[in-house]
Amino acid sequence: MAENVVEITQKNDRTRRLLNAELARITARLRSEADVPMAGVVGGDFLDIAQGIEHQELARLSASRLVDRARRLRIALTRVSDGEYGICSECGAPIPPRRLLAVPDATACVTCQSRLERAGGAGPDAGDPAEQPVRKSA
Ligand SMILES: [Zn+2]
Repeated sequence: MAENVVEITQKNDRTRRLLNAELARITARLRSEADVPMAGVVGGDFLDIAQGIEHQELARLSASRLVDRARRLRIALTRVSDGEYGICSECGAPIPPRRLLAVPDATACVTCQSRLERAGGAGPDAGDPAEQPVRKSA
């Protein structure tokens, strides 16, 4: 932990800017998608209605994915502030940037994550392992 504090601060600023930029893009896209009119549903024939519903269904799907991504980005920003971003909560090793790109709120490196998933089916996000009930052998 003898890294240059200034260097870490600059890196955090850059990370925060990148995360905020993506969050802003998602927010803008969600806002524009919310404005999509219910085209074809009123006064159209059956095909128009079916198409309109299908379009809304697709929009809803991608919106929920965007909402999930936005939620992860907000968690990631909190972790940057806490100085925990990109650090595995299990072994303390740095989480590879490629993994952080895919999962911004990742709290464990790939090795620990797969070990955790094998162990209990739940990731570290399920809670502090210390808080999980101890299984007593009968
Ligand atoms: Zn780890």
